[in-house]
Amino acid sequence: MEIIKNVKGTHDIFGGESNSYDYVESIMKSIAELYAYNGVRPPVLEYSQVFSRGVGESSDIVRKEMYTFPDKGGRDLTLRPEFTAGIMRLVVQNKLYATNELPLKLYYNGPVFRYERPQLGRYRQFNQFGVESIGNNSAMNDVEVIALAYTILCSLGLEDVTIKLNTLGDDESRNNYRKALKEFFANHIENMCEDCKSRYELNPLRILDCKVPEDQEIVKDAPSIGNYLTEASKLRFEDVQDALSALHIPYEIDESLVRGLDYYSETVFEFHYKSKTGQDYGAVGAGGHYGKLMMELGGPELPGVGFSFGIERIVSVLKDDGLLVDKNNELDCYIMPLGENERLFAEEVAVLLRNSGGYRVDMCFDKTKVGNMFKRASNKGAKFAVIVGEEEAKNDSVVLKNLATQEQETVKLENIIDKLDEFFDSQEEETQK
Ligand code: AMP
Repeated sequence: MEIIKNVKGTHDIFGGESNSYDYVESIMKSIAELYAYNGVRPPVLEYSQVFSRGVGESSDIVRKEMYTFPDKGGRDLTLRPEFTAGIMRLVVQNKLYATNELPLKLYYNGPVFRYERPQLGRYRQFNQFGVESIGNNSAMNDVEVIALAYTILCSLGLEDVTIKLNTLGDDESRNNYRKALKEFFANHIENMCEDCKSRYELNPLRILDCKVPEDQEIVKDAPSIGNYLTEASKLRFEDVQDALSALHIPYEIDESLVRGLDYYSETVFEFHYKSKTGQDYGAVGAGGHYGKLMMELGGPELPGVGFSFGIERIVSVLKDDGLLVDKNNELDCYIMPLGENERLFAEEVAVLLRNSGGYRVDMCFDKTKVGNMFKRASNKGAKFAVIVGEEEAKNDSVVLKNLATQEQETVKLENIIDKLDEFFDSQEEETQK
């Protein structure tokens, strides 16, 4: 019978790769917690309006990329294409903003869905980790969010991350800029792509993001936002830059950075990293400040700032640069019962080592030759073979064999954890030297 394959644009994560995702996500989570963020888990399914109102009708995501469908009750639902709008819905609905402890600092982690053309670093189901800091409008809040993202990337071992930084200014700045862009593109739009034609009507800033080479030529000469910023937005952006410099966080200004989601205002940023193989997976993360998103979703006018990392892209660059350890092939002990009668005792040893010792332990369940068991122990990367024969079972003991040195000794069950602790502690001391 023909086998059924995974859906186009999705990917299976298994073996050592699954450990890599756990590792990356655990570093992200632990650093977000150091910055006093708390986790939230909004549902994957939302009413489509959350995104059409939140992310914006003119964004590519809402126009072309959402997995939207009516459910059996006729509700218009969407698999989340990003987290921020759903989190804002959660905050508004549960009135989490009604606290004196603003900003509200939330982190999230999970799959998102976008109907995009699959290619290197681009999937239709992928995983994001990100944060939102809601209810404080200061430039320092933007800076702290950028610092958090930068710390995470450094902790994962990524050196030379490029932070691209821009400002989209406040409403007045963007209105002035939009007008200037409309005037500029009025003479060109006839010859530009269909997407740009609708962007021209809906949100001309998005034209700056067009990837069509002929359109990019035209975009090169477009006016830049810097000349249309209000005094307040200019000062705010200077504050962001001064603080980043004071914290020794490197950045470069990129005036073409407009971001694909409509809710952004003031500071926007992207994180780029080229792996040592030269492979470019696109931005590993991105984010920015938003002024009106909560209001668009029926809440009070509270601003926020956040970022989102693409876990697939981060795992890819870490793998390319040899910064991941394959934990799949690591085992502390492999238990080898030599006969049928020793199986139960062997299982008791396994439970003891796992539950009281905290060791990663596997056991041979098959009737097979001792030689085969040793082969399996070595294939699984075991440090010790724990051999249980008739004599040992009778005497509440095991034979503990160090598979690297081939040294072995009989150890009483009551001493086995101390023996293993001694070995692993001394190994840890060695690696710290
Ligand atoms: P965005 O929500 O569009 O700002 O994207 C945030 C991050 O998610 C990007 O910087 C990428 O790392 C990642 N990302 C976006 N789209 C995809 C995709 N289709 N496949 C894999 N990762 C993606």
